Amino acid sequence: MATLTKAIENCKNPWKGKCKNTDIEVYIYYRNKRLPICRKCWGIIAEKDLEW
Ligand SMILES: [Zn+2]
Repeated sequence: MATLTKAIENCKNPWKGKCKNTDIEVYIYYRNKRLPICRKCWGIIAEKDLEW
């Protein structure tokens, strides 16, 4: 289960590059880093069902 948060952070979607959205939906662990992912990017990631 991903962690929900209200903290204001920029999205750091590792697959999109630069995304400045701050409506963070979830945090993911990628290469030992905790990355905030915005609602939009999360939708894209879930849609593409990327392997990680
Ligand atoms: Zn994003």
